[in-house]
Amino acid sequence: MIRKISYFSTNRKADKVSFREALLKGLAPDHGLYMPDHLPGIDEAFIQSISRKNYHEVAFETARLFLHSEIKDADLFELIKDAYDFEVPVENIYERKYILRLDQGPTASFKDFAARLMGRLMQYFLKLEERNLLILTATSGDTGSAIANAFYGLDNIQVVVLYPEKEVTSRQRRQMTTLRKNIRIIALNGKFDDCQALVKKAFSDPGLDHLNLSSANSINIGRLIPQSFYYIYAYCRAGHTDHPEKTVFSVPSGNFGNVMGGLLAWRMGLPVKRFVIATNENDEVPVYWQSGSYKTIVPSRNCISSAMNVGHPSNMARVVTLYGGMMDEAGNIVKEPDIEQMRKDIYAVSISDKKTVETIAGVYNKHQIILEPHGAAGWAGLMENFSVNPEDADPGQLCISLETAHPAKFPDEIRRVIGIDPELPPAMKGLDQRKETFMRLDNDYKLFKEFLKDNY
Ligand SMILES: *Cc1c(COP(=O)(O)O)cnc(C)c1O
Repeated sequence: MIRKISYFSTNRKADKVSFREALLKGLAPDHGLYMPDHLPGIDEAFIQSISRKNYHEVAFETARLFLHSEIKDADLFELIKDAYDFEVPVENIYERKYILRLDQGPTASFKDFAARLMGRLMQYFLKLEERNLLILTATSGDTGSAIANAFYGLDNIQVVVLYPEKEVTSRQRRQMTTLRKNIRIIALNGKFDDCQALVKKAFSDPGLDHLNLSSANSINIGRLIPQSFYYIYAYCRAGHTDHPEKTVFSVPSGNFGNVMGGLLAWRMGLPVKRFVIATNENDEVPVYWQSGSYKTIVPSRNCISSAMNVGHPSNMARVVTLYGGMMDEAGNIVKEPDIEQMRKDIYAVSISDKKTVETIAGVYNKHQIILEPHGAAGWAGLMENFSVNPEDADPGQLCISLETAHPAKFPDEIRRVIGIDPELPPAMKGLDQRKETFMRLDNDYKLFKEFLKDNY
């Protein structure tokens, strides 16, 4: 069978660890991000063998290539079946152009895919070790609700989410505050940065060591690997799996975790022609592609695709590693990657808010499909790619663009642009009527620490 995979740090100053250790640690001790030291291969026969399977079956067959030496197949299958109990539509738009809808999970964003499996994997390993974990998360909206929902009701894990009282929408808030059980929500009288600062301080406070704190943030390897599964699944649904047809993927990107999952699937052997990375006006990566010099954007620019307002994607360090280079956590390039190859493999483009809005209107008028701002940036990126690489627009060329959230999460924008109130997905129905529970806290570390010591 396949060689056991170990995980190294992108900063190369920490020991290699198992998946379990990388998952429970999150960040490597040298502040780098964990990456697999080699990837399992998938070939035509593998793809054919899974081409008619359901989402959770495709996810299982792929996950076991990474995890077979650490989790028994039967256990892994149960975790995955439980994590992925929702639809994953692959919608044909025209010719061989598709949209992969990652918006049918409990919080209607693609973050559900990663968070739900990560939570179950953590629970599995914690039970084996008879250990508990307290997850602290600061959120500006989407991450907190995905984590809170994904971890809701799990054993051995408690969750505290801090959100800035005045900076989240009421639907985002309700997706967190209507849960209870092992989930506690704090409305902080402050800004997102204040929430993040309190969480960071708690992590480095020796007085809280006994609480076994962890962060579940987006750089955890346990969130990355599950984000390779849906690329393989989408190919199985839309591709000619009986001969190696290559596809173009377009990915709306902020922290680059999503696209990193796709690049992993490609390196494993999924037949891909090219990736399109579509950012919003936070264009540090498209500029890097053009100029070869990388500069973070501080503070990040506010765009309507708010989950992509990232001025320095933390997963860039992983992309750079994949191309033979090294980038530290501040965004300094310590060793140059093969940028020529990056440019060949990936077309990176920045999409303005104006273009995003035009795309929402245009796609609705032409195809009667409602896209929200993030998915619209992805689709606009694909269209931009057609003007640079016209052969990708050929009727026979398979292209798959990712829709990362449900339009009902952005009702004001959608109403304003196309005059329609998008229907709530099943998971969000009744949300506006459920009872909310949360506590208010002033922005004061002493109060936060007291809260943690009193309750855990
Ligand atoms: C988080 C998020 C993104 C960005 O994904 P990354 O993995 O950070 O690139 C895009 N769209 C939506 C709706 C999101 O919630």
